[in-house]
Amino acid sequence: MSDHHKRTVVITGAGSGIGKETALAFGALGYSLHLTDINQVALQEVKSLLAKTGCAVHLYNYDVTNSEQMNLFAKEFGQNELYLDILCNNAGIGVGSSFEELDLDGWQRVMNINFWGVIYGIRAFLPYLKKNLRGAHIINVASMSGLVGMPGMSAYTCSKFAVVGLSESLASELAPFGIKVTAICPGIINTNIIKNSHLVSYGSLTDEVVAKLYQRFGAHPRSVAKDIVKAAKSNRVIKLSRPGPMRFLYWIKIFCHRFFIWSIKWGSARLTKDRING
Ligand code: NAD
Repeated sequence: MSDHHKRTVVITGAGSGIGKETALAFGALGYSLHLTDINQVALQEVKSLLAKTGCAVHLYNYDVTNSEQMNLFAKEFGQNELYLDILCNNAGIGVGSSFEELDLDGWQRVMNINFWGVIYGIRAFLPYLKKNLRGAHIINVASMSGLVGMPGMSAYTCSKFAVVGLSESLASELAPFGIKVTAICPGIINTNIIKNSHLVSYGSLTDEVVAKLYQRFGAHPRSVAKDIVKAAKSNRVIKLSRPGPMRFLYWIKIFCHRFFIWSIKWGSARLTKDRING
């Protein structure tokens, strides 16, 4: 029997992509799963995929952007379980647009899901994480965009930098309670994120180009799920997951920030050349 027997995990946005694969990975390890998503059809499909694992699966219909709903989620969780081992704040959307073209509704939408969703999740479930005397873990799905600021992605980048900063800060604040915190930073992953995203063309980066880029070069979300399971056994505060070439940009940023800024400006100028000139 695995050492994960009877452990509990909460996953937001578990109906698709990284959240779905994370649910399947923890399900295979025998965790008791508590999954929420605003897409209930997708969540039911995940439950049927989990049937053969024999693990306990609890489905919820809570929206991470609503703090009251997240509190209800935690309350309902508490009716089934005594404490929580892993909280995986995964639900998120993408936004690609120039700063000027993204209206305030767009900004608020991405911040509500990607940033406030994480805050509400942690606030609601913290009592159950603290109660866990074996030690618990918060895993926030951030992004390489939480480490490297790319043009045409300012809103998404803000939301993910905030999640990385929050994770770094809480890692030390919650350590005395035996709670570890990790920000997972995936690169390009082939999920439904492009379909669910708000995309405005940025220079030569049109919707179709971005969708093709994700299909062609995106890693399978299963590989991120594997990294999340590994992170749950580790002490890492920031964990890159299938970062691809973004890894090198991140290193350049750390070791030579001026060259990093020059490279990003150079790349951005090439992408937007036509628009600016004409
Ligand atoms: P996805 O679109 O395949 O899955 C996201 C899931 O979240 C969907 O099932 C969606 O219904 C759910 N969701 C959206 N809003 C919600 C809400 N308000 N409440 C509850 N559920 C909600 O996308 P994905 O690629 O699996 O994204 C998962 C996370 O990974 C996101 O936080 C995303 O920013 C991050 N990420 C993705 C990539 C990538 O390239 N796909 C890269 C880095 C980080």
